[in-house]
Amino acid sequence: MQELNTKAKITWCAGCPNSQILVAFREAITELTSQDKLKIENIVATAGIGCHGKIAEYLNLNTYTSLHGRLIPTMTGIKTANSNLTVIGFSGDGDAYAEGIEHLIHAARRNSDIKLFVHDNQIFALTTGQVTPTSPKGFKGKSTPFGNLDEPFDPILLMLSLNTSFIARTFALDISKTKEIMKRAIEHKGFAFVDIIQPCITFFDTREYFKERIFWIDDQPADNPEIAMQKIKNIKGKIPCGIFYEISKPTFEAQQ
Ligand code: SF4
Repeated sequence: MQELNTKAKITWCAGCPNSQILVAFREAITELTSQDKLKIENIVATAGIGCHGKIAEYLNLNTYTSLHGRLIPTMTGIKTANSNLTVIGFSGDGDAYAEGIEHLIHAARRNSDIKLFVHDNQIFALTTGQVTPTSPKGFKGKSTPFGNLDEPFDPILLMLSLNTSFIARTFALDISKTKEIMKRAIEHKGFAFVDIIQPCITFFDTREYFKERIFWIDDQPADNPEIAMQKIKNIKGKIPCGIFYEISKPTFEAQQ
């Protein structure tokens, strides 16, 4: 864990759940490398633009920070140039679901062997609180002072519609569960998608909302979309987390 720290000062707001994601990731990497399942020198941790993007500065790994919304093509390029690398990306809901949505769709379709962790706080936090595609209808922020008129979309359902080979959701405040899901995603062969519910305590504090509603599904992911749909369904306003779907299929890189 200590070896993954850098000297960079953490500038996230005090108490921001981004820090819990950082801890979970460091623990996941420490465990996988100590079990010889991963070589530290082969990891490339990439990030997009947003509050989440600072994570690249806090990891003593090979890192790369991309342009806003262009994280996924950057990851695909790195993996295509050297398929021995383990390419892991951190993105935000603005970065991945607004600017970068087309890249997300096509990476999932082609099953690139890359891993994407989306810090989903339901707003553009770095720019102090504008709506993103996962902001709830009615949300009042800097860009929607009278309330958001758009319906939010569900990234998990989108990923399932694309037959994405690994689909999961986790909650940043649960470090242990997030670490386990990250490890499973990193070990998965193919495109691994993890939506991380990450409340922004400064501009949209949803901690209590999610604490009251989240529940964890069993550890066994479905390998059939219909069964996965049953796992994904919100039950009486409750929000499921866990690994919903995992299948094995040829990766983009293996078919080249
Ligand atoms: Fe975290 Fe929100 Fe502060 Fe950004 S603005 S560092 S997401 S609490």
